[in-house]
Formats: sequence, structure tokens, C-alpha cells
Amino acid sequence: MEQRQIKILNVDDDATNRYILTKILSKAGYEIQEAASGKEALKKAEIDQPNLIILDVNLPDINGYEVCQQLKSNPATSVIPILSISSHYTRNEDWVRGLECGADNYLIKPIESHVLLAIVQSMLRIESTERKLRIALKEAEAVNNVKTQFLANVSHELRTPINVILSALHMTNIIIDEIDLLHIKRKLSQYNGMMKQNSYRLIRLINNLIDITKIDSGFMTMSRVNVDIVRIVEDITLSIASFVENKQIELIFDTDLNERVTACDPDKIERIIFNLLSNATKFTGAGGRINVNMFEDGENITISVKDTGIGIAEENRRKIFHRFLQVDDTLHRNSEGSGIGLSLVKAFVEMHDGEISVESAYGQGSTFIIKLPIIVVEEAEEVNVDHSSSNYIDRMYIEFSDIYA
Ligand code: ADP
Repeated sequence: MEQRQIKILNVDDDATNRYILTKILSKAGYEIQEAASGKEALKKAEIDQPNLIILDVNLPDINGYEVCQQLKSNPATSVIPILSISSHYTRNEDWVRGLECGADNYLIKPIESHVLLAIVQSMLRIESTERKLRIALKEAEAVNNVKTQFLANVSHELRTPINVILSALHMTNIIIDEIDLLHIKRKLSQYNGMMKQNSYRLIRLINNLIDITKIDSGFMTMSRVNVDIVRIVEDITLSIASFVENKQIELIFDTDLNERVTACDPDKIERIIFNLLSNATKFTGAGGRINVNMFEDGENITISVKDTGIGIAEENRRKIFHRFLQVDDTLHRNSEGSGIGLSLVKAFVEMHDGEISVESAYGQGSTFIIKLPIIVVEEAEEVNVDHSSSNYIDRMYIEFSDIYA
């Protein structure tokens, strides 16, 4: 039944040959269109969209090889399979040339009808499978786009009420300060703190989801400016010092570099460093140490964040950069997370044409190493980003919100 709808374009300038081929194929139930020249073939292929083109190489106007190349380079006809046939070009080299020009198969005349039909059927089977796959892919892309759009809308909608809650909590804090009854004041502050931390956790999750949707839909942009990256990393590290030290973890920033100006996106560098530091803090117990080092290595700048925490087993080291993956470890009971952080860190590093790797000894600690090429964008002025610690406090609350103080 389906065979009746299968269209084959039969291209040959020799009317007798064309007639014979059309007769064999029509008898087998295919719908045949004919073309006697290269130009006619190109036009009909585009308009009629046949399932298969049988193309004689020896054509009066455009050579069959050239027709083949043009069909394959035109998006409207590139997926149509082509069976090249020839009685003149019969050497192995001609055969190879035909396939190199984009033909999917090559036959030498005279062709016996049962051979022709077997080849045509096999090519049409592949064409049918490919067509179904293309349709399935299109449908999957459409569903994925709807999902991405939905996630983007919901994420934005979620941000507004959380910001309202945070403003209200800020106001309640001011009122709590005025309460004289100490035990009530303490309880209310405690509850207020819990609400605030969990609001920050939601903001972090939403920010991460928004970033994922932007990356997936290709809307994540980079705005590179020339900045002193040493200063950025140092300031971020300093901004979290008291938080980390309160958890009895030593935090050391060390570098021989005075400054290193490179073209990067400061917001993304900030997210990368905050993420690595928050993980290092999360997975390092009291009495541990976190070292942040920076050094120049040829044309790259290397940033390493080393901790003396729980470490990562070898089988998990590559997996942790995959989205939503968390290594289930009983030691990491005091912290939570969504498993999005490192996949975003990796994406941001790669947007800077950099690389990220991890070295770890299970039970002894981990070192995350980022290598970024030093690039200076010409014509762009060097930007002085305000990276004073106070500027980072809100960011720290958000990025460290998975860790209970
Ligand atoms: P999460 O937001 O859950 O922390 P990440 O993508 O940042 O997600 O990290 C994924 C997983 O990688 C974590 O759940 C943890 O198992 C592991 N991991 C990341 N950083 C460290 C580290 N410094 N020490 C030990 N394990 C880590």
C-alpha cells in the first residue's frame, strides 16, 4: 500500500533507457517522475521531493557528478538518496568519484531489473528509517523547547515571590531588634534566620535552573572585559573568610602574581570560584584546610582550590561534572545540594575556552584545577570591577546557602 506513494525521480537524457527504467519501476508499484537534463532534475527534485533519485551520470547540460553535488549541498534536497548509474563511466575510479560526489550507490549499465529493484528497495528502506528518525528528532526538539521555555518562565516567576519574602524578613529583623523579651527575641531571630537561609537556597536553585535553561537554549552569553583576575579570586576568597573560619576551617589564598589582566566574564568567574569554595567548605570538616592558589603557566592562568575534606572516589571523579549528580556519601550528611553546581562551573570554564579537572584522594581531600587562557580583548578598556567584600556578601549568602552555619 505504502509503495504507491513512493516517488522516484528517473533522470536520463536517453528516452529509451528512461522509458525502460520507468516501466520496471512503475510495474513494481512506484510513482515515477522523469527528467531529461541536469537542470530539470534539480528543479523537479526540489519541487517534488522524491524518495529516491536515479541519476544517469552522462547528461547533456550539467554532468551527473555535478548534479549530485548540487543536490547534496542544497538543504531542500540534501537528504534525498541518489542512485547514480552509468554506461560510460564504468571504471572503479568513476564509481568512487560518484560516491564522493554524494551518491549513495552506483550501478553500471546494463542493469538487470531484479538487481535494480533490490538496490532500490534497500535504499528506500534506509530512506524510510532516516525519515522516521528525522521526524522523531524534530518532535523531541519541539518538546525540549517547550520544556526549556516552561522552565525559564517558571524560574523567573519564582524569583519574584522569594524576593518579596526576603524583603519582609529584612523588615521583621528590624522589628525583632526592638523586642525587649530576650527569649522571644532569640527564638524569632532563629526562625527568621532559617527562613532567610532557605529563601537563599531557593534563589540559588532558581539561578542555577535559569542558567541551565539559558545554556540549553543557547542564550547564555559571555561579556568579556579586561579585568585583573587575581584580584577577583582574592576578593571572593577574602569575602568568605569569616564564614569558613567559623566552621573551624583554615582558608589560605596564595599566589606569586601581583596582578594578571585577562579578558573574562567577571560574573561567571565569580560563580565558578564561589561554587568551588562552597563545595570545598561543604565537604571539609572542622580542623580542615582550604588552599586557593593561582599561578601563571605559559599562556594560561591556573586557579586551584584544594581542600582536605572527604575526597572523591576515583569512579565518581568524572561523573561529578555531569548535571544533577551527587555522590552519595554518609559523611556528607550536614549539607545539601542539587548536583547542578559543577556542571555549570564546567560550562562557564569552557565558555572561557578553559579546562577544569579534579585530583583527589578519597578520604584525604580534593583539588579542583582550572586552566584559563590569558587573552586580552583589544579596544576594550580595562574594567575595574567593584569586588569589595561587602559587594560579595549577598552572593555568599546565596552560594553558601546549602551549608548550615
Ligand atoms: P551540589 O550542588 O550538590 O554540591 P555539585 O555539582 O557542586 O553539586 O557537586 C556534585 C557532587 O560532587 C557533590 O554532591 C559531591 O558529591 C561532589 N563534590 C564536589 N566538590 C567536592 C569536594 N570539594 N569534595 C568532595 N566531593 C565534592
